[in-house]
Amino acid sequence: MTIWNLGSINADMIYDVPHLPAPGETLAANRLDRFLGGKGANMSVAAARAGARVAHIGAVGPDGRWALERLTEYGVDTRYIAGVQEPTGHAIIAVDTKGENNIILFPGSNHAISRDQLGQALSSASQGDLLVMQNETNLQVEAARMGHELGLTVCYAAAPFQADAVEAVLPYLDFLILNEIEAEQLQQASGQSVTDLEIEHVIVTLGSKGARYYHRGAPSDFPALKVEAVDTTGAGDTFTGYVLAGMDRGMPMAQAISQANRAAALMVTRHGTADVIPDLKEVHEAQF
Ligand code: ADP
Repeated sequence: MTIWNLGSINADMIYDVPHLPAPGETLAANRLDRFLGGKGANMSVAAARAGARVAHIGAVGPDGRWALERLTEYGVDTRYIAGVQEPTGHAIIAVDTKGENNIILFPGSNHAISRDQLGQALSSASQGDLLVMQNETNLQVEAARMGHELGLTVCYAAAPFQADAVEAVLPYLDFLILNEIEAEQLQQASGQSVTDLEIEHVIVTLGSKGARYYHRGAPSDFPALKVEAVDTTGAGDTFTGYVLAGMDRGMPMAQAISQANRAAALMVTRHGTADVIPDLKEVHEAQF
C-alpha cells in the first residue's frame, strides 16, 4: 500500500542570535542552519523511516531542489511534488542564548498546489491506500473528498488548528489526530468533544503523558516513555508518521501507537526536525 501525503515542505532557517531582535534593530546572527521541515515533510519522512511507501504531494519553488533531494534521500517518492514560481515555504527562526525563539512563517509554494496536480497524483492511488493531510497546504477539503470517493483511508492531522478547516474535512475522515490543545479548540469551536465525532479512529496526543486513542469513541491510553526531553519540535509529526506506517502495514492500532510512542520519545531526545527522525531499527533498539 502507499501513503499519499498532501503536505507542506519548508526550509527551517534557524539563526542563532545573542538576543531576540527589538523593533528597528539590525542584528548579526552567529550561525545559520537550514533544516528540512514543515509538518507535511516531517510526516512523510517519519512514515518512510518507519518502512512505508510514501508519495508526497506538494510544491516547491525554484529554490527548493535541495528539499526534493533530501526527501528522496530519506526514502520519500517526490514525483508528485510540483515546481512552482512561488518561493519554497520557509520559517525564519531566531533562537537566543536562552533558547527563546520567534518565528516568521512564509507558506509560499505550499499554497500553490494545483487541482490538476492533486487529481493526477490521486488517479495513481489504489483503494485501501492512505491519504493524509495537515493544515499547511491548500486543497485539503478537495483532497479529503476525492480520497473518500476513491475509497482511500482519509487521515487528517489538525495542525496548525483552524476551526473552519477541520470542520470542512470532518465528514470525509476515517482518522483524526490532534494534540490536547487542538482537541480543546475543536470542542470550543464546534461544541463537539472527540467522543462525539463519527470518525472511526481518533488519537489525542498528550505530550509527555503519551496518547489517548478512541476507537469509535471508546478510549484507551498509551503512556509515553520516560526520556530526557531536549527538543519537542517534530514529536507530533513523528508520532503521526509512525502511526500511519503501522496502519498501512495492517498492524493493530495498539501496536502502531506503541511503536509511535517509542519513535516520538526518541525524537524528543534530539535537536532538529525531519533530518533527525529515527528509523525503525533505531526505534526497536532504543533503550528507554
Ligand atoms: P505536538 O508536538 O503535535 O503538540 P505532543 O506534544 O502531544 O504533540 O507529542 C506527540 C507525541 O510525542 C506524544 O504522544 C508522545 O508520544 C511524544 N512525546 C512528546 N513529548 C514527550 C516527552 N516529554 N517524553 C516522551 N514522549 C513525548
